[in-house]
Amino acid sequence: MVENKKLIYRYLSEISDPEIPVINIVEMGVVRDVLFHGSKLEIKLTPTYSGCPAMDMIHQLVEEKLHSKGYNSVEVTLVYKPAWTTDWMSDETKQKLARYGIAPPLGKVASKKTLLNNEHVSCPQCGSKNTEMKSMFGSTACKALYVCKKCLEPFDYFKCI
Ligand SMILES: [Zn+2]
Repeated sequence: MVENKKLIYRYLSEISDPEIPVINIVEMGVVRDVLFHGSKLEIKLTPTYSGCPAMDMIHQLVEEKLHSKGYNSVEVTLVYKPAWTTDWMSDETKQKLARYGIAPPLGKVASKKTLLNNEHVSCPQCGSKNTEMKSMFGSTACKALYVCKKCLEPFDYFKCI
């Protein structure tokens, strides 16, 4: 087995987030560490959201990808502390989210607090801040459904923390 972390990260970056196909799981910041234990490879992942059903799929995709690259013994462990935060996404990743039509998390310590304070989320289509949350749950549990009052487009706001 080739003990090359960079290579493993490269393989992992070929896996798209099941919910957001334009972003891979490394960009999402869910890959915490890659460890080699003799003939076994351990991948540490931090779930983006405790109830996120995508995590099971990511778990499976990671195993399939690494098996296909010849790593037969792969263990995926989940790390809950420190909890994943949207701060682990790079600005570039947040921009990609916006281009995909999902309003990226607002600055630091976004999400839940933002939702509760009802701060304004910009519309990814026209940039207007005149938006309104329609539902805490958008197309998936990780997103809230917003609607833009200017262009009247509904959009998802990524609220994972
Ligand atoms: Zn708009």
